[in-house]
Amino acid sequence: MKLAILSESPADEAALRVLVEYVLGRPFDTLPLSLRARGWPSVEQVLPPIVRHLHFQTEADGLVVVVDSDDSVVHTPAHEAPGYHHPFCRICRLRHAFRRTVKNLPPRRQVSPNAAPAGPGEARVLRAIGLAVPAIEAWYLCGRDTSITEAAWLDGQASGRPPYTRRELKWRVYGTDRPTLPFEVKRAVQEVSRHRGDVRRLENDFPAGFGSLARDLRDWLAG
Ligand SMILES: [Zn+2]
Repeated sequence: MKLAILSESPADEAALRVLVEYVLGRPFDTLPLSLRARGWPSVEQVLPPIVRHLHFQTEADGLVVVVDSDDSVVHTPAHEAPGYHHPFCRICRLRHAFRRTVKNLPPRRQVSPNAAPAGPGEARVLRAIGLAVPAIEAWYLCGRDTSITEAAWLDGQASGRPPYTRRELKWRVYGTDRPTLPFEVKRAVQEVSRHRGDVRRLENDFPAGFGSLARDLRDWLAG
């Protein structure tokens, strides 16, 4: 399988390579991105040209996209209604942007008649979209700090008293809120590697944001 991973920083993308492999249960090749994004809304803005590049210029099977929710609306099952998308939910917005982009793309050319059997994305690039609530450091702390869950964050949004801030999450992961990139990558990969072979804890504690990503990836395998 050939995948591209688009997130908010190279450290996030390093951690996601590990997590995506755990969910898929198989190794894959990572394709370089044609454009970089730094945070929201830049990810949403670069998504259409990245999808077109992957479709026309590569043999990518799929694109994985993960963004932080920050203070935005968290995706819920109610958003899954056919034809609906929540205007402020980042999962809904990214899915909508992806759908709009692929809708009018022509089928891919067969690169070579003798090419090896193509992957699941032969005709089109598949998508897997996740949302880290409120930031990807929450995923890094999953299983180590049981107070950090989507449910805790949603309770905080409802009551107006957030259980933790994004800055606090960074302190808990890196010991600073301004880590160097190499240290950020090292800590991110260290923490997500605790979920080797079993991502159920992440799916349980982050059912909307991580759960959506995992379900999309498993749909690829189901073909
Ligand atoms: Zn949504």
